[in-house]
Amino acid sequence: MNCELCGKPIKFYHEVMIEDSILRVCDDCVKYGKEIKKKNKSNVIGPANVSLTNNVQIQRPVVHSPKSAPRKQRLEEQDDIDLVENYGEIIRKKREEMNLSQEDFAKKLQEKKNLIAKIEREEIKPDLQTARKIEKMLGIKLLDKF
Ligand SMILES: [Zn+2]
Repeated sequence: MNCELCGKPIKFYHEVMIEDSILRVCDDCVKYGKEIKKKNKSNVIGPANVSLTNNVQIQRPVVHSPKSAPRKQRLEEQDDIDLVENYGEIIRKKREEMNLSQEDFAKKLQEKKNLIAKIEREEIKPDLQTARKIEKMLGIKLLDKF
């Protein structure tokens, strides 16, 4: 037979789609069209299986997402520390016992004097790190839970 595109005599032909018509062409003319693969029937099963496994995988992240939410809440709870009652008074009394001025005490803690004054007046709560430093420095207990 001959190539339906260039007319060259050929033993084996390729079926290609060129502008909505199927032509039997030679090796050289395959590039002018879209070759029609004869494996189409087995391929039909392939994509169907892939979409089934995809559906299973999609459900997995949904199961994981609720677990990450409580973790964030726990972190927030740690930031809100429980201090003993009258923590400001306890700090001031102990500091005066040790003959430390607010300024000296602040220097030892590497904090600002203003911060120490505010903590002693209980205007602000020290954060966990600062509270632990004060506990160590004065040998007192400020944290209720830890
Ligand atoms: Zn040809």
